[in-house]
Amino acid sequence: MPSPFEKLQRYIRLESERGYDNRAVVGGLDKIIPWWEPEARVSQVTEDTLQAILERLRAYPKAEGEDRSRLVAELEKLLEPLARLPRPERPVRPPQPKPAPAARPERPNRPVRSPERPAKNAGAPAPAQRPLRAPQPRPAAASMPSNEALDQGLKASVMVLQGIGPSNAKTFSTLGLNTLDDLLHYYPRRYDDYSQMKPINRLVPGEVVTILAAIKRIDNRNLHGGKREITEAIIEDGTGVLRVTWFNQPWLSSRLPVGTQIVLSGKVEMYLGRLVMNSPEWEYLEQEHLHTNRIVPVYSLTAGISQKQLRKAVYQVASFWAPRQRDFMPTSIREAGSLLPLSTALVQVHFPDTQAKLDAARERLAFDEIFLLQLGVLSQKRSWQVASAQTFDAPEEWLAGIEAELPFELTGAQKRAVQEIRTDLSSGRPMERLLQGDVGSGKTIVAALAMAIIAREGAQAAIMAPTGILADQHYRSLIRLLCADEPTAGKPFRPSEVRLLVGDTPEADRQEILAGLASGEIKFLVGTHALIEDPVAFQRLQLAIIDEQHRFGVAQRAALRAKGENPHLLVMTATPIPRSLALTVYGDLDLSVLDEMPAGRKPVETHVLLPLERERAYQLIRSQFKAGRQAFVIYPLVEKGEREDESRAAVEEHARLQSEVFPHQKIGLLHGRMSPEDKDDVMKRFRDREIDLLVSTSVVEVGVDVPNATVMLVEGANRFGLAQLHQFRGRVGRGEDQSFCLLIPETDESIENERLKAMAETNNGFVLAERDLQQRGPGEFLGTRQAGFSELRMATLTDVRLIEKARQLAQLLFTQDPELLQPQNQALKAELAHFWGNGRGDVS
Ligand code: ADP
Ligand code: MG
Repeated sequence: MPSPFEKLQRYIRLESERGYDNRAVVGGLDKIIPWWEPEARVSQVTEDTLQAILERLRAYPKAEGEDRSRLVAELEKLLEPLARLPRPERPVRPPQPKPAPAARPERPNRPVRSPERPAKNAGAPAPAQRPLRAPQPRPAAASMPSNEALDQGLKASVMVLQGIGPSNAKTFSTLGLNTLDDLLHYYPRRYDDYSQMKPINRLVPGEVVTILAAIKRIDNRNLHGGKREITEAIIEDGTGVLRVTWFNQPWLSSRLPVGTQIVLSGKVEMYLGRLVMNSPEWEYLEQEHLHTNRIVPVYSLTAGISQKQLRKAVYQVASFWAPRQRDFMPTSIREAGSLLPLSTALVQVHFPDTQAKLDAARERLAFDEIFLLQLGVLSQKRSWQVASAQTFDAPEEWLAGIEAELPFELTGAQKRAVQEIRTDLSSGRPMERLLQGDVGSGKTIVAALAMAIIAREGAQAAIMAPTGILADQHYRSLIRLLCADEPTAGKPFRPSEVRLLVGDTPEADRQEILAGLASGEIKFLVGTHALIEDPVAFQRLQLAIIDEQHRFGVAQRAALRAKGENPHLLVMTATPIPRSLALTVYGDLDLSVLDEMPAGRKPVETHVLLPLERERAYQLIRSQFKAGRQAFVIYPLVEKGEREDESRAAVEEHARLQSEVFPHQKIGLLHGRMSPEDKDDVMKRFRDREIDLLVSTSVVEVGVDVPNATVMLVEGANRFGLAQLHQFRGRVGRGEDQSFCLLIPETDESIENERLKAMAETNNGFVLAERDLQQRGPGEFLGTRQAGFSELRMATLTDVRLIEKARQLAQLLFTQDPELLQPQNQALKAELAHFWGNGRGDVS
C-alpha cells in the first residue's frame, strides 16, 4: 500500500501532466480531503505540515492556471520528505527514508506490475463535429497508481464521487452499487444513439438527433390549473429555429437564460404542423457531454436516482479508473481472441465512441465471463479426474440378458447412453456424467442399468430423487425391471436387495435398512434426501445417482457422494439445456443426451383456447374420463389473493369443478401449502387411479409418471414460463394414447402470447429451450439456484460463437498451464479466484 503521501504525490503529478485542469481527481483535487486527511493523520505527520497541505488542496480548485502550478509545486515540496517515491526527474534516486515508520505496515517487497495500457485511441475516427471524447486512457506516467492502490481506490465508497452524499449512497446501495468498483461494472441496460448531429433546417420528424443551438427565448407556463408546469424554449442554430418543451422543471428557465449555448438530444416530432422536441436531454455546450451528442448509456434505475445522476457517477469512475485497470487476461489469450484491452472495454462499454467500439467492448467483457466460468469448470473437472475409482466391467451378454426381458426395446439414444456409462465405469476414473433427456425420454431405465452393473460385483448404488413419490416410483421400477424372487439372467437380482428410504419410512424398517446397508446385503438404495442424513452408511457405495438434479442444492449432491469413496456419479435432468449452454455450465461433466422418444409415443396435441372456450376443454376431459383416462388441471395460485388477481385459484376451482363441472368424478387437490406427506398421498392416489382429475398448482411433481393421464389443462397459462409449461405437458403423453395439452390464458389478448404460440408449435424441449433463452436469458431454464449464472452480467448464453471461442481458448490455456502457475497467468489466477469466490463451488 502506498502511503497517503505517495498517493497524493501521484495525484498532483497527474495534475501537472494534465495541465492543471483539476481533473486528476474525480470531482476536483479537494475531493480527496475527506479520505486523505484521516489517512494522513494516522501517519503521524506534524499538524503544521498537514494544515499546509490541506490549505493548498482547498485553494486549488478556485485557483487559476499560474496559481495552480505554483500550488502543485508547493505541494510537491511539502510531500517530498514524507513520501518515499523518487521524484520523476530523478528516477534513480533511492527511496527516501520514512519519517514515521511506526504507524504503517512495511510496504510489501514484491514487484509491482505496471498496468497494461491500451494503445491510445487506436483507430478512432476523428470526431466529426465537436470534440466528443470518451474518456481516453492516459499515457504512462510515474503517477500511475500501483495495483494495490488501484484495488484500494476502487473499493472506496461511491460517496467519494462528486454529487453523492450519504443519502444518495443509500439509494445507490439498493442497486448493489456501494463501491466505485460496483459502478465500473454496472453495465448499461441499453444505449440511446444521439451521435447523429444535424442542423435545424435538416430535421425530419421521427428521427433521433442531436442539435447544437442557442436559447432565443424561454419561459414557463402553467397547464391544467397549475398542476403541470411547462417550460418552452425557442432555440436557433443559424439555419433555423425549433420549439422545445420540458415538463415540470421550471428551474430550467433560470439555468438556460437567453443566449446560452446548449446541446440537445431527442426525438424530433410534429406538432400542429411544426417541428418540435419534447423533453430532450440537454447539456451546456462547453461541458463534457455525457447525456447528449453521443451514444448515451441508459442504466437500470431505482426510485430516487435519475439517469443523469447515475451517468455522471459512472462517468467519474469510468474516466478515471477504467483506463487504469490492469488487464488480467494474458496477452497470448487477448491476441488469440482479438480482444480489446480491459481498460478500453470498460470505458467503451459505458461511453462508447462508436457502435463498433461498443460491440468490441461488449464482446471483451462477455468473453471474460464465459472464459472464467470455463476455466473454473475445467479445473474442477481436473480435480475430480486425478482421483482413481474402482472399475466395473459388465460383460455384453450379461447386459443383453437383462435388456432382452425389459417390457420394451431400448431406444437408440438409451443404448448409446448405457454404452457411454459402461465405458466410464470401466475407466478407472470416477464417472462424472450428466444424463439429459426431455421428460418421458426414459432416463430411469438407463439409471437402473448403471446400478445393475455396480450391484453385479457386489458393490452398492444409490439414487436420490427430490420427492417421496418419485423415489417410490423408481423403487418400483427397479424391482419390476431387475428383480425376481428366483433370479434369472433377465432379472438377476432379488427384491430384498432393493430398498426404499424416505422421510416417513417406519423406524423398524429404517433400522433394518441401515443394517442391510452396513452389511452390504442391500445393493440398491432408492430415496429422498433422507439418504444423505447422517446415520446412513454404506458398506461400499460405488455409484451415486441424482435424479432431477436441479431440485437439489450443491451441498446435497456433495453429501451423497461423500457416502462412498470416490464413487461414480450420474446426474439426471429433464431440463432441456441447449448444447452451447450445457457445455458451458456443465463443462465439468460429460454429457449424454436422450434425444429420442420411446417408440409409439404420440406427440401431445397442444391447443391454445380462449377463456370463453373453456367448456370445450371440459368436454374433452369428460370424453377422456369416459375412455377411462385421467386429467390434470393447473392453476397459477393457491388462493385468490386480495390483489386484483384474476387468476383462478386452485382451492376455489377445485370446489367449483367438483360441484358444477364434474360432479360424478373424483377430484383431488395438490398445492404447495400441503405437507409433503399429504402431497405424496394425493399423487399416489392419482397414480393408482383412485382420483380421476388432479387439480394442482405448479407444484405438480416433476418426473411423476402417470401414463394413464391424457389431458393437461393449464389455466392462466400466460403466467407460466416456457420451461414450466413444457414440464406440465410432459406429465401427459407417456402412454400409447393420444394426449392433449390445453392452454387457456387469462384474457383474449394474451392468446397472442409468444410462449403459448411456441408451445403449440413444437413438442421439442430443446427447441423451446433455445427460444426461451433468446427471450428471457438462462435463468428460467437453470433456476435461480444454479451456480455460475448470477455473475454473468454481459454474456448472453445464446451467443454460441462467443461461447465456443471462450471455451477453446480456456481449454488451450488450461492445457498449457492447468494450475496457472506461470508468471504471466498470475493476474488471471487472482481474477479467477475472485470470480469463483462467491460461494459458487461445485456446479454439477
Ligand atoms: P424420464 O426420462 O422423464 O424420467 P421415465 O424414465 O420416467 O422418463 O420413462 C417414461 C416412461 O417411458 C416410463 O413409463 C417408462 O417405462 C417408459 N419407457 C422408457 N423407455 C422406454 C422405451 N425404450 N420404450 C418404451 N417405453 C419406454
Ligand atoms: Mg424421471
